[in-house]
Amino acid sequence: MLTNMSPNKKFQQPNSNQVKYVFYKKSDLFVLLKKIKLWPSRTGLLHGIKSININGNYADILLHCGHRLSVKNSKNSRAARWLRNKWMVEACQQCAVPDWKLDKYANTNFK
Ligand SMILES: [Zn+2]
Repeated sequence: MLTNMSPNKKFQQPNSNQVKYVFYKKSDLFVLLKKIKLWPSRTGLLHGIKSININGNYADILLHCGHRLSVKNSKNSRAARWLRNKWMVEACQQCAVPDWKLDKYANTNFK
């Protein structure tokens, strides 16, 4: 968004065709999930989020592989930590997360 850009802000783009996200550690988990559309399961699989329905402090998440889960919003949740630290082992085969999405996530900076 051009309107949000200030002259003091450094806009780093090492590679023009490399799109990446920047998130702040204090970002709301749901905002993060909505943008990134990826869910880290406890088993180390990275799932694709098909839809997310926010209901107050909870969100109903439907994954591409058909799993449905209910998540409580918390900045210090396991999911938030896993996403920030990129602890996922591999992408879920059934979710068929496209490579560009994984690349984009891999290039995400958490500040
Ligand atoms: Zn999946």
